[in-house]
Amino acid sequence: MGLEADCDVRFGKQSSSGHARLEEKELLFHGDFRRAQERARESLQLDIYALAHLKSAGRLPDWVELRFLESGLAGGKRPTLEEAARTETRIRDIAALIRRRDFTPRPSFMACGLCAFREICPHTARGPETEREY
Ligand code: SF4
Repeated sequence: MGLEADCDVRFGKQSSSGHARLEEKELLFHGDFRRAQERARESLQLDIYALAHLKSAGRLPDWVELRFLESGLAGGKRPTLEEAARTETRIRDIAALIRRRDFTPRPSFMACGLCAFREICPHTARGPETEREY
């Protein structure tokens, strides 16, 4: 089990290195296990950690999980090779967009909800009016 790890991963000619630490600051209420599981299932962060482990250790981790510090809840999943392949494709596609300097906004409820710029972004899917709906 690893809570904190350095990684250096190659995707073709691209190299990505970094220091991974698994922590979540989002407030989930006690008993909100379903929400914790959803967050883990949808987490690109966990998918990237699993892919980094596959690339560096030669195998997928048995389990990855998000731990929500405020509530003590945890949500996790067993990574799959199909998921890792999708994640690698997604990273390559996004890297290609960045190389082409294509920064077209792609707002989504999940992405904008985590974004530090959502208060000032004209494209956000999480403006004050949409917050009231949820
Ligand atoms: S708030 Fe704006 S910058 Fe942030 S993820 Fe959404 S669209 Fe992108």
